[in-house]
Amino acid sequence: MTAIDVLLQRHEDGPDHGAPEVPTPLPSLHLTVVTCMDARIKVFDVFGLVHGEVHILRNAGGIVTDDVIRSLAISQRKLGTREVIVMQHTSCGMATFTDDEFRDDLAKDTGLKPTWAVEAFREVKDSVKQSLERVRRSPFIPYTDNVRGFVYDVQTAALTEVH
Ligand SMILES: [Zn+2]
Repeated sequence: MTAIDVLLQRHEDGPDHGAPEVPTPLPSLHLTVVTCMDARIKVFDVFGLVHGEVHILRNAGGIVTDDVIRSLAISQRKLGTREVIVMQHTSCGMATFTDDEFRDDLAKDTGLKPTWAVEAFREVKDSVKQSLERVRRSPFIPYTDNVRGFVYDVQTAALTEVH
């Protein structure tokens, strides 16, 4: 039995099968949260969220990549969001290797170098700052007055703003 099979069974057994509670795709807090895919981060709990309040964009590192800009542009221009949180975190897997190492591994194993940037980092605060600047300077993102960055401590749950 695979993990996918386990989840399909949970869906069948669940009390409401995850039925949506919100009729509109427009987040009621008009806010998008960009964060890491790290399984330890309980995004809803970190910010006391309920369903329907925010868009959540997750990837390796919580990095503002071109694809995150794509989603933010749609989020703001078509779905009414006006504010952005970028939240990266302590002990992130993205700080355990370098771009060159990973690119070399991929090239060695597959014969192909990726066309995308790996975006590994050493200092999480610098990575948050870089992502904030990408949002603020993007010509596709119309609302940049309230774009704020944070580091979440996965040991203590402390949230530290990055200026
Ligand atoms: Zn991470």
